Amino acid sequence: MSKIDTILSQLDAISKNPRKAMEDFKAKTGKGAVGILPIYAPEEIVYATGYLPIGIWGATKKQILKATTNLPAFACSIMQSIMELELNGTYDDLAAVIISSPCDTLKCFGQKWKGKSPVIQFAHSQNRDMEASNVYMVGEYKCIKEKLENILGVTITDDAINAAIDVYNENRAVMRLFSDVAAMYPQVITPVKRHAVIKARQFMDKAEHTKMVRELICELMQQPVVPFKGKKVVLTGIQAEPDELLNIFEEFGIAVVADDLAQESRQFRTDVPAGNDPLYRLAKQWQNVTACALAIDRDKPRGKFIVDLVKEHGADAVIVCMMKFCDPEEYDYPILLEDFEKANVKNLKIEIDQQSESLEQIRTRVQSFVEMM
Ligand code: SF4
Repeated sequence: MSKIDTILSQLDAISKNPRKAMEDFKAKTGKGAVGILPIYAPEEIVYATGYLPIGIWGATKKQILKATTNLPAFACSIMQSIMELELNGTYDDLAAVIISSPCDTLKCFGQKWKGKSPVIQFAHSQNRDMEASNVYMVGEYKCIKEKLENILGVTITDDAINAAIDVYNENRAVMRLFSDVAAMYPQVITPVKRHAVIKARQFMDKAEHTKMVRELICELMQQPVVPFKGKKVVLTGIQAEPDELLNIFEEFGIAVVADDLAQESRQFRTDVPAGNDPLYRLAKQWQNVTACALAIDRDKPRGKFIVDLVKEHGADAVIVCMMKFCDPEEYDYPILLEDFEKANVKNLKIEIDQQSESLEQIRTRVQSFVEMM
């Protein structure tokens, strides 16, 4: 097995088994994990405690049995899945769970939490262009810090958070580079492999992840660049799962050359800026988030941002991965569509439903889309 295959299969295994990743981390460090619900949370504060921040993004093909008693049927598919897992005790081993409130579904999720792990819920400011936003966010992050200190029995110093920010910023930079390098080698980094490399970062010590991805990039860069005969796309949405969906892309010769997915690039495209006060630095990062359905921006720059990604990467089209019943993404869609049409960017919308058993409809739509391109 080549070095590239070895790293890819290690990251793939981690991306598919967060519980094992958590247990391995515990065996190595003696510390547990803190769950992070989508989309944004100041993971660096958790990392500064020595605990593992671990992403909670639901599970595909999870049959919903109990969650319907706690969530309305029109709640998004990912939260239905998280609620079901939570009611089954899947998250009970987490030392704590952090929940942000960017949408109506998540706003009440902390109150509905039935798992044994203590919940820390917070809200992001939405009038982000004013300094009051930063003051407010510092208050929210201070609250998270104090709650974590109480729950975990630790003291979190400014130095530890600043050091964590360095680790995270380094990982963000390496991930941006990976995304660009992966686009040069679509024959090697297939859609499903690209996704696994990016998803694994949700369940790993970021320093470890950075090391592995850096090594992967070095190995890839030694390979010859071969012209790609298929179609290149940019993905946008909350997430592009399950693997079967990404395998359909590969089956029809589609390469993912960039993304604007909440689970992927949106997690690493905005660095935490320099400074001394770590909580203020984290607040400024939120102020700098752009082109995201969860971060209100009066100018609505997301469509243009995606069009620019298409041009920059020579993509043939955009695939909108619409999370079933995600209000913020659905509200953005008409504006995106207008921007795509204005820029003459071909696009396809598919529905992401974590509970879906069959992807045959999507297969047919992707096949016709590729034939039309
Ligand atoms: S509605 Fe959208 S933003 Fe809110 S939790 Fe669901 S997927 Fe995330």
